[in-house]
Amino acid sequence: MTAGIESATRWPTIHKDIAGFPVQPNLVDYDATCAAFTWDSARRGLSGLPGGRGLNIAYEAVDRHAAGPHAARDALRFVRADGTTRALTYADLFEQTNRFASVLRALGVERGERVFSLLGRIPELYVAMLGTLKNASVFCPLFSAFGPEPVRQRLHLGAGRALITTRALYRKKVAPIRAELPELLHVLLVDADGAPEPGTLDLAELMRNAPEFGGIATTHREDMALLHFTSGTTGTPKGAIHVHDAVTAHYATGRFALDLHPDDIYWCTADPGWVTGTSYGLIAPLVHGVTSIVDEEELDADRWYRILAEQRVTVWYTAPTALRMLMKAGADRARGHDLSALRFVASVGEPLNPEVVVWGQEAFGQPVHDNWWQTETGGIMISNYAATEIRPGSMGRPLPGVEAALVARDEQGKPVLHNITAVLVTDPDVVGELALRPGWPSMFRGYLNEEARYQRCFVGGWYLTGDLAKRDADGYYWFVGRGDDVIKSSGHLIGPFEVESSLMEHEAVAEAGVIGVPDPVAGEIVKAFVELHAGFEPTDALRLEIIGFARKRLGPAVAPRLLEFAESLPRTRSGKILRRLLKARELGLPEGDTSTVEVPR
Ligand code: ATP
Ligand code: MG
Repeated sequence: MTAGIESATRWPTIHKDIAGFPVQPNLVDYDATCAAFTWDSARRGLSGLPGGRGLNIAYEAVDRHAAGPHAARDALRFVRADGTTRALTYADLFEQTNRFASVLRALGVERGERVFSLLGRIPELYVAMLGTLKNASVFCPLFSAFGPEPVRQRLHLGAGRALITTRALYRKKVAPIRAELPELLHVLLVDADGAPEPGTLDLAELMRNAPEFGGIATTHREDMALLHFTSGTTGTPKGAIHVHDAVTAHYATGRFALDLHPDDIYWCTADPGWVTGTSYGLIAPLVHGVTSIVDEEELDADRWYRILAEQRVTVWYTAPTALRMLMKAGADRARGHDLSALRFVASVGEPLNPEVVVWGQEAFGQPVHDNWWQTETGGIMISNYAATEIRPGSMGRPLPGVEAALVARDEQGKPVLHNITAVLVTDPDVVGELALRPGWPSMFRGYLNEEARYQRCFVGGWYLTGDLAKRDADGYYWFVGRGDDVIKSSGHLIGPFEVESSLMEHEAVAEAGVIGVPDPVAGEIVKAFVELHAGFEPTDALRLEIIGFARKRLGPAVAPRLLEFAESLPRTRSGKILRRLLKARELGLPEGDTSTVEVPR
């Protein structure tokens, strides 16, 4: 067992003044909401396709609003590099997504065939995504920063039929590999300007001349809608298959975990190349009829504060890496901006250090609500529920409709089975593998072309997430580490997260990544890589001081024995610290799949 629970609970629970907190009034009681909730009850909040023709994400996100009083409201508002904005109302989005679906139909792209994008966060990406769903085809967004090889791998695995991209990206990343992709029949350029590259088409022209739209295709709950690749934090990215019914979960979790109201101005900072940018950058907010902000640029502290203030953002969903970056820049940077509209802040993607939750209150006037999910789960599963208290350092509790458990693991890290039933951890504060009972609507239905890998995720009626966690006596879950990242040292099981969080409490430490390195006596010893705040020098004295600081908090068995200063830690494009890469470099081993590694700017 790790010492994590003791260190984490040093941070006091943040109680919300429920009376003064404008949440959906029916959500205040967590237990009552969980008891009353069924996924069918959530489905009743959706429209379904007219004439009982099934369920389609794009219809729920766009069409039903375009036909109602929200038609003229901004659905997506894009902030350009110079700070100016361009918006698509629900009515605009209705019209453009119909056109895009018509274009696909005219090109002969069929139901179930895959349409990829390789684009920055510009309107065409969002129009293409929803238009593809209206054609009953499957959408797969890629990060525009991917190099030619990751693009080729994913297009090949997904048998991409059409690709939407820009001229520059096509020349640099697609043209060199095009010959290796015989299934890719159509490449549509968003900026062809009347003169497409050889072998490509001009999307704007096709949109202008699109045949009249014959109506949204019939799709059923279980029809494949999205293909999303995982972040590749632990190895080769997997293509997770999601179906139209996922929208039921986006709708429910948008309410429970993000507290979306129709008059919200909401901003999710994630790129759709990562599942968060699709599930919560597009689908959840539009299903709730809110205005969703999209920043076309990259992370920058001053720019982000400006957007929060100028756009009067009310609900903000971001990631620990971004919050740590803002923290590194200092709370003073926030002070010059009017953040008074902001009423709810949430984070996902990596463990959120308690330090950051509490700092949020100073900087934004709001604590940060951590929540947990994966590409595979398609939507938020565990969350510091919108209406109740926050426990800094905890991911929160399972959302209504989600059944979570901890599966006991043996010495080798394998799930313990009794006959075919998984043995569950029931005592508080004991580590197990986080598991979910299958059956929620946004659950992945497979890894594309990897059935065996998919089947290996299920044991004794549970979906195993690969993450280790603990649960406290009140049912809050505390992240310990990814199964692969956990360190075994002299009989202790050490979660990198708690060591990193303790290090971050030292005033000099901005970020930390912790790994185990082999040791003949202890099995493994803890090594930390540390990024310093501006103004601190990486001296030997500081190194010893930080190690001493961690020993006091964590005890000598858990604190790092080795500490190295780093300019920047390697991370994925979705912002996760890549401990496997730190370890491979430390041990001089091959770096493995690096297709999703962020190249420092
Ligand atoms: P891959 O599966 O390819 O190795 P990945 O797991 O990073 O990559 P994602 O699906 O983007 O791909 O990320 C999900 C994982 O991110 C979770 O399994 C968990 O390890 C981590 N994570 C997400 N949210 C949280 C959170 N709130 N606290 C701790 N960890 C989190
Ligand atoms: Mg994963």
